[in-house]
Amino acid sequence: MKVIHKINELKEIIKEQKGKSIGLVPTMGALHEGHGSLIKKSVEQNDFTIVSVFVNPVQFGINEDFDKYPRTLEKDAKLAEELGADVIFNPSVDEMYTDTQELTLVCPPYSAINKLCGKSRPGHFDGVATVVSKLFNITQCTRAYFGQKDAQQLFIIKKMVKDLNFNVEIVPCPIVREKDGLALSSRNTYLKDDARADALKLSKALNYAKELRKKGVNDKQMLCDSALKILEGTNVDYIEIVNPETFEDWQETDKRALMLIAAKIPPTDTRLIDNMEI
Ligand code: AMP
Repeated sequence: MKVIHKINELKEIIKEQKGKSIGLVPTMGALHEGHGSLIKKSVEQNDFTIVSVFVNPVQFGINEDFDKYPRTLEKDAKLAEELGADVIFNPSVDEMYTDTQELTLVCPPYSAINKLCGKSRPGHFDGVATVVSKLFNITQCTRAYFGQKDAQQLFIIKKMVKDLNFNVEIVPCPIVREKDGLALSSRNTYLKDDARADALKLSKALNYAKELRKKGVNDKQMLCDSALKILEGTNVDYIEIVNPETFEDWQETDKRALMLIAAKIPPTDTRLIDNMEI
């Protein structure tokens, strides 16, 4: 497996793959088994798999964790190689952007970003849609793999591909969790001691709401309030239920319901997200 830092070098390698299917797994690195599941799927479904490892400054807000985001390239390369990836693409910020202030952005519509993470993190999804577009153009991938962990991101990328006629098949991948339910995340490395117990409250709250719905509770307020009780001790950013197909607010007549939570975990205020169909 090769680790490539330059766009032109990657393009040369891609030229050599003529006629072959190319899978792309876009990541910010600090790879864990969640990323691993995407890589495995890509290796199964494609002749050639590229894992991009790029902490994208354009999708971080000014007070967010861009500088301290974990960067573990050597470990990432080992895992990606073990899983059968062909290339890690790890460009520098300068290689990807000549000037982030004067950048042509891909901007998802207001209706898709005025809620959930888009509302809490202004500009975040412009940054995501822009970098993903660049990666699609650079790699000319056949398929690209995204985790349902970032459900709003997946929704926005699918919409972008449809709206802008990208010739890429988007493959959604289920959330990988620890045995006790905690969704794997690169940011879990920020959690120390007691913080992990608080972090676990996200999946507990989602599972509880799922149980309630199984028992016939269909009242949105009641479902959210019950989940909120479990989240006590964390700083809840949002808890919402949407229709997973449209990402519109869930109506009690909708069959499918996706509950999404974002919460900051003290004392470091690590921001975690999780979601589940309930
Ligand atoms: P990130 O490196 O956090 O930007 O994530 C890169 C990709 O991996 C995204 O498509 C995420 O949704 C996906 N991902 C992250 N964590 C998980 C997880 N626990 N299970 C499945 N996919 C994940």
